[in-house]
Amino acid sequence: MTLNDILSEKGSHVYTISPAATLDDVVQKLVECNCGSLLVCEPAPGGGQSILGIITERDILRACAAHLPLAEVPVENVMTRNLVTGHPDDSVEEVMGLLTEKRIRHLPVLNQGCLVGLISIGDVVKAQYRQTLVENHYLKTYLHG
Ligand code: AMP
Repeated sequence: MTLNDILSEKGSHVYTISPAATLDDVVQKLVECNCGSLLVCEPAPGGGQSILGIITERDILRACAAHLPLAEVPVENVMTRNLVTGHPDDSVEEVMGLLTEKRIRHLPVLNQGCLVGLISIGDVVKAQYRQTLVENHYLKTYLHG
């Protein structure tokens, strides 16, 4: 199973926010969209959007622990700029390894530099769980004739 298989079911929509938005805006949008991360994007000079980084609920937690004023601090001060990304052909096993090694739970998926979706650790666990159920079913059918 690949990231492409997960995205075909989940869809390619990715929630985004601008670098100038505040951490308070991030909290509101994370709750509204019921998700754990937002990609930080700005309009690209030639049209479309350029990806500047990612901000997740973990970054908000750190900001709260540091007593940062959420209504004043812009996203660009807190976001992670060095993005770890995946490719649609990456296998679910590879991605589980990558997320564990990098200690992240969100992976933007790019194809030839274009954003085609975002996978969360929850999507990966769900896909793996479904695959295990199917494999178990076939193994049991095989064993019991
Ligand atoms: P998470 O576990 O995904 O909530 O994120 C933990 C930390 O890693 C936060 O500081 C995020 O900004 C950062 N992070 C999450 N996903 C990525 C990613 N794909 N590339 C780079 N940093 C990330």
